[in-house]
Amino acid sequence: MDCPFCNIYKEDRTIKETENAYVILSNPRLVAGHTLIIPKRHVTSISQLTKEEQSEIFDLLVEFQGKILEKLSSGCDIRQNFKPYVKNSQTHVGHVHFHLLPRDFQDELQEKAEKFKDPLYKDLSEEEKNKIIALLK
Ligand SMILES: [Zn+2]
Repeated sequence: MDCPFCNIYKEDRTIKETENAYVILSNPRLVAGHTLIIPKRHVTSISQLTKEEQSEIFDLLVEFQGKILEKLSSGCDIRQNFKPYVKNSQTHVGHVHFHLLPRDFQDELQEKAEKFKDPLYKDLSEEEKNKIIALLK
C-alpha cells in the first residue's frame, strides 16, 4: 500500500509504540518537537477507530502533551484534519493522525501563519447559530 504511515515502522523517528499506535516525530515538521500520533491500522477518519484505539490514542495525546509542556514549550496545540479532497503528499497523508505542536508566546508559527488566521474570526450571528445547531443536534 502506498501509504507512508502504514510503513512508518521502517523509520527511526519513533518515540513510542503501543499495541495500536505509534508516536513519531513529524518529518517535515512545522516546529521543533512536532509530534504525530498515528494508529497502526489504516483508517481515514476518526469515526473508523475502534473504542480501544480511540482510548489508547487519547491517552497518548494526554501523555505527550504533558511531556511537551514539561520539556519543550509553554503551550501545545493538538490538531487532527480530515480532508479527503486532498491528495497524499509530503504534507498530507490520508491515514488518521494527530499533530502535537509545541507552542510558545509569539513563536514562529504565530508570527508567520496565525497572524493571517486571527482576522478571519467573525461574530456568530443568530441566524448562523440557529442553522448550525439545528443541523448538528
Ligand atoms: Zn496508512
